[in-house]
Amino acid sequence: PAGSAAPTITLVAIDSSAGPSAPSPATAAVDAVPPTVLSRASWGCNESYRFDSNGAEIWPPEYRTVTHVIVHHTVTSNYEVDPAATVRAVYYYHAVTLGWGDIGYNYLVDWKGNIYEGRYGGPNVVGGHALKYNWGSCGIGCLGTYGNSPVPANSTTPTDAMRIAVTRLIADRFSCLDARATGLLVDKTVPTVCGHRDVMATSCPGDNLQALLPAIRTNVLAEQMALWAATPGIGGSITAATFSTTRMPTGSILRIDVSVMAGCHALGGQAPYSGTVYDEAQDYTTVGGAPIAGAWRIGIGFSGERTPYPYRWGIPPTLGAWQTAVVTCQVRLSALGERQLWIGLIREPGQVVAGALYVTSVRVLAGECFGSYDSAASASPTAADSASIAAGDLYSVRLPLTANIDCR
Ligand SMILES: [Zn+2]
Repeated sequence: PAGSAAPTITLVAIDSSAGPSAPSPATAAVDAVPPTVLSRASWGCNESYRFDSNGAEIWPPEYRTVTHVIVHHTVTSNYEVDPAATVRAVYYYHAVTLGWGDIGYNYLVDWKGNIYEGRYGGPNVVGGHALKYNWGSCGIGCLGTYGNSPVPANSTTPTDAMRIAVTRLIADRFSCLDARATGLLVDKTVPTVCGHRDVMATSCPGDNLQALLPAIRTNVLAEQMALWAATPGIGGSITAATFSTTRMPTGSILRIDVSVMAGCHALGGQAPYSGTVYDEAQDYTTVGGAPIAGAWRIGIGFSGERTPYPYRWGIPPTLGAWQTAVVTCQVRLSALGERQLWIGLIREPGQVVAGALYVTSVRVLAGECFGSYDSAASASPTAADSASIAAGDLYSVRLPLTANIDCR
C-alpha cells in the first residue's frame, strides 16, 4: 500500500460501486501490440476530488524521469467482480479521506489483467506510494492481497493475467528501462523493478507477489523487444551498408558490409557470423542452424527469393546498448542476369525489424565481360588488327564462339 500507515480499514466504508466496469483484456505473454491502459475517465474517476473548495489543484503534478518501478499490493479483496469499483474506492481514500487530492499509485492492475491509469499528469509524473522514493519511481498498485495478511485466508497468489499485465505495462511505458538491472533510487541501490519492501520497511507487496518479480524482470525485456524492435533507436537499426560491386563475373563473391547499431538494450546474434560465404542456392536454414528465438541477424533478400531474406548472418554474440558492429555478408553469385538485392534486420524467428533497406541492382555477367576469359577466341583485337586500324577507321573485332554474351 501507499505511504507507511496501513490504509485498509477505511476502504470498507466506501461505496464506489456506481461507475463503469472494466472489460477483460488479452493475456498473451508476449505481444507486439501495446497493452490497453484504461484512462481515468474510463474507470469513472471523479476529477473534482483533485480540487479544493477554491478550485485550486490540491496536489499539482511534479515530474522526474522514472528509473525504477515499485510494485505494491493494495491489501483489498481478491477476485472482485468489479475491480474498477475498488480503483474508485482507493482513489477516494487517497484523494479525499487522506486529503492528498489524487490517487497515489501511477497505475493499478486487477486480477483480470486490466490496467488503470492512476495519478493524474501523464508520463513521469511523481506519484505518492513510497514516501521519498516517489521521486524517480513509478508505483504500480496490484489490486488484492498477496501475502503477509493478519488473516492468512485473505491472501492469494497473483493470477497469470495480473503478472502479464504488470509485465506489459512496464515494457510499454518504460521501453528503455533495463528491468534486470539494479540502480540507485534516492539513497538505495535496488532492482529497477522492485517491491515496496525493497525500499521501505513494509511487507508490501506480499510474499506471493514479491516472488514473481524475477520472472517479471526477465519477461519485461522480451516484451520490450516485441513492442519496440521495429522502432529504430530502441530496438536496433542498420546505419550503413556498402556493396562491393554492382557488376560482377559469374561465380564470384558479392560482399556487403552492413553496419548495425543496438538500441537501448544489448542485442545478441547467432551463427553463421560475419564473413561466412553463402552459395547462391543455400539459405539460412542449412547454414548456421535453425533460428534461435531473440537472436538478431542481418538478412539479404533478392528478387525471386523463395523464402524471405534467405541469406542471414548473426550480429556479434553481444552488442552493447548503442554499440555499432560491421557484419560482412558474402554470397557467391552464379546465375547470369540482373537482380535486386536488399538488406533487412531480422529478429529471429523471422521478425523483420527493418526491411528492404539499401535496395541495389547487381548484374552477374559472363567472365568474358571482365577480360579475364582465357580463350583462343579472344574478344580483344589481335596485334595484327591493331596495326591495321587507323584513326577514324570503322573496324570490328572477332568475338568468341559464345558470341551472344550480354555484357551490358
Ligand atoms: Zn506498498
